[in-house]
Amino acid sequence: MRQKKRIVLGIGMICTLMIATVYMSRFTHIIAEKEWKVLNGIVVVLDPGHGGKDGGAQSGEIMEDEINLTIAFQTKELLEQAGAQVILTRDGDYDLADKGAANRKRQDIRKRMDMMNAEDVDVFISIHLNAYPNPKVQGAQTFYNEKDEASKEFANLIQNKLKVLTKSKMTSKPGDFYLLENAKTMGVLVECGFLSNPNDRALLVKEEYQKALANVLYKSIKEYFDFLM
Ligand SMILES: [Zn+2]
Repeated sequence: MRQKKRIVLGIGMICTLMIATVYMSRFTHIIAEKEWKVLNGIVVVLDPGHGGKDGGAQSGEIMEDEINLTIAFQTKELLEQAGAQVILTRDGDYDLADKGAANRKRQDIRKRMDMMNAEDVDVFISIHLNAYPNPKVQGAQTFYNEKDEASKEFANLIQNKLKVLTKSKMTSKPGDFYLLENAKTMGVLVECGFLSNPNDRALLVKEEYQKALANVLYKSIKEYFDFLM
């Protein structure tokens, strides 16, 4: 009788342990998933500026549109790992205008804008590089629509991180870009540096630096939406 009791007690303990193990593993799984998928449900449009015949800013063989696209790909990867849905306005060397469009530039920009303004989009970042006649001008700068407080706040978040990365004193600024003025979604345009400045240019062509820029964009989105959630 006593032995029977002990067996029952033993089976009971084993069952309790098994249930506890299953429960704990589910619990840690939920925690891990929450940490890893912090951007679950967030839709991001990344817009690598220019493409196709429009290469953007240029310095010798170095073309702005190619670097913009690389930074966009790197940012996309980071965002997707964190659970975000990412839409690229382009994923190759082309623009968005139809064949034979009367005004390619205008149609291209309108199509990008339509993608950013789609109903389910939470945030957009248009990625560009700058150029200026004075080669001494350097640094990364974030532009926003001054009528939109959320975009301004988001731009400041990015710019503060860019200041650390680029050691630039530049601040974020309202921008009179067509894209920003017609945006219905929160978003910014980031000029990641000046191709016309030798220091910026030397950094902008490096994969390591492009990844650091992508990380700034990713972390800014993560911080902004993490705070809201
Ligand atoms: Zn550009």
